[in-house]
Amino acid sequence: MFERAKEAIEKAKRVLLISHVNPDGDALGSSLAMFNSLQITGSKRVRIVNVSDDLPRSYDFLPGFEKISKTFSGGYDLAIAFDCASFDRLGVDKIDAPLIGFDHHPTNEGFADIDINDPSYSSTGELVYDFLKSSGFVIDKNVALCLYSAIVSDTGFFRYENVNSALFKKCSELVELGVDPSYVADMITQRESLAKLRLKAKILDTLTLYLNARVAVVKLTQDMLKSTGAAPSDAEEAANMARSLATVEVGVLLREEPNGDVKVSLRSKRFVDVSKAALIFGGGGHKRAAGFTVKGKDFDTVLKEVLDILKKELA
Ligand code: 5GP
Ligand code: MN
Repeated sequence: MFERAKEAIEKAKRVLLISHVNPDGDALGSSLAMFNSLQITGSKRVRIVNVSDDLPRSYDFLPGFEKISKTFSGGYDLAIAFDCASFDRLGVDKIDAPLIGFDHHPTNEGFADIDINDPSYSSTGELVYDFLKSSGFVIDKNVALCLYSAIVSDTGFFRYENVNSALFKKCSELVELGVDPSYVADMITQRESLAKLRLKAKILDTLTLYLNARVAVVKLTQDMLKSTGAAPSDAEEAANMARSLATVEVGVLLREEPNGDVKVSLRSKRFVDVSKAALIFGGGGHKRAAGFTVKGKDFDTVLKEVLDILKKELA
């Protein structure tokens, strides 16, 4: 698959790079790594797209971040999707070009023409690193910075189960290429806005425990966003905060969307496979981090349905 993707990328003159809606550091970092690498080759027109209104500002230090555009038209001879398990998560109706998909979600639906999906990888960033390196594409300091940032984003700075010695070896190579780990950590975690901290306080204030305190639920409403002035992406760590409580196995964030939909984020600690629960509701994700969106139901109804499933998983 690497070989087929390499040939397709080398041949293409106009390339579209796109990542999933509500992007995280892995989606942004892996697509920007490819963007920077292809820019260096010079012979292609490359456009990088994410259709979300609200890109997390904690990643604005990544080279090329300001080039990410919300829209695109036709005329591409190749498109590449990053960190995306299903076509609908790209947030576009269609893409008129052959599609390569780089991903590491166990729930990936295999929607791309050339699927490069391996759930054994910590992150799409790690996978893109292997691809760029083995295919002989340029990996300079900027590309390395994007890849390293993607990796720390999806491993919680090397805290999760997807971390192994091979990953540290790759990160060591990225540091040798010029990445400064403390700079990256500062940029991602030490530039919080007052609005974001105020929002976190409001979210934590809603924390409620269920199922013998093994499930912690927090809520985010549109009113909370208005009163703090925070952006929806400022709530990205909310489910992790709920999970961090000693007794808790699963942290749940219920988020009210502007159109009234309820977006649910699930995070588990040790044994519950939350991607199974998310799949039941038409979503997806990983064993320890998954999500889905429900239409036409209120928080209480959604919560009851989620708790019914989690009760079985925790039994
Ligand atoms: P989050 O809860 O931060 O939105 O997402 C956690 C994980 O679940 C991510 O890997 C994300 O890609 C996946 N995920 C979240 N929402 C959805 C969804 O609606 N559909 C699918 N397929 N995956 C989702
Ligand atoms: Mn990822």
